[in-house]
Amino acid sequence: MRWSIAAILLSSLIVQGAHAQPHASGQQNNASNPSRTTPQAPFRMPASEQKNIADNPSWTAPQKPFRIHGNTWYVGPRGLGVFLITAPTGDVLIDGGVYGDAALIEANIRALGVNLRDIKWILNSHAHSDHAGGIARLARDTGAQVIAGAADAPLLERGGHDDPQYDDRFPFPPVHVSRAVTDGEHLELGALVLTAHATPGHTKGNTTWTWISCEHQHCLHMVDVGSLSTPGYHLIDNPNYPDIVKDFEHSFAAVAALPCDIPLAPHREMVGFWERVAKREHGNANALVDLSGCRAYAQDAREDFEAKLAKQRTDAATTK
Ligand SMILES: [Zn+2]
Repeated sequence: MRWSIAAILLSSLIVQGAHAQPHASGQQNNASNPSRTTPQAPFRMPASEQKNIADNPSWTAPQKPFRIHGNTWYVGPRGLGVFLITAPTGDVLIDGGVYGDAALIEANIRALGVNLRDIKWILNSHAHSDHAGGIARLARDTGAQVIAGAADAPLLERGGHDDPQYDDRFPFPPVHVSRAVTDGEHLELGALVLTAHATPGHTKGNTTWTWISCEHQHCLHMVDVGSLSTPGYHLIDNPNYPDIVKDFEHSFAAVAALPCDIPLAPHREMVGFWERVAKREHGNANALVDLSGCRAYAQDAREDFEAKLAKQRTDAATTK
């Protein structure tokens, strides 16, 4: 049981409570670290994914890393949320951008003074190429274990092929998932606790991650909201995902109900992230706090979803 070995190793470390500075202990992963990546043939990116990346230049645009709050840091490219959470017992990375973003993310992490080998876990928000594309290399370079929603693990393992909506259009290097989590599961890395909230629909295992970050005794609920969008999705009569409507309805309610002080997201436009960052840079120290941000995103996504669903139902009825 690979996981239990890691748990014993980690729990034997001294727990001091999550601190607000990234660390550079120089600690190397023990040779017994069970993380691995399955040997793969070199990844060949099809023209459809090359175009996907070329059409979204912000996904590969450089961005200086910075502190969001306490031990939570932004380390992604400009257009894709990738977050680092630091703690004395090891660090956690959420998402890995597109294929090719790993070098940029690793440089950002190093720029914060963090040793890549101190990253113990890489969490995934969902198994699409713009959030999972860099994970295989990041897992290899850090030795971290990859953790994802159980229903997305097969899609990660097959590198995005046979996606219920996208089929084989947007593949990425296959990712070995060390641990698959279900709704409400807590992950404990010393004093750092992350919770997985299943928010299925966008993918079957789409996951919203929550944790608490403190800065000078000011502790806030951090939420990396799972995507609730339906770009080009077939919402009815989809044999690859018959429960998609029920799943989305669950997820709108789940996200709206979360304690949420600082909403984060895989995509910047979901929660107006950069607008809030700009306000903070102009002197509003609390501008990243948006107590209604998670609810507002869920409501907007629900309205968009319901409009698309109604149209698809009308179209289906008229063509029958
Ligand atoms: Zn997606």
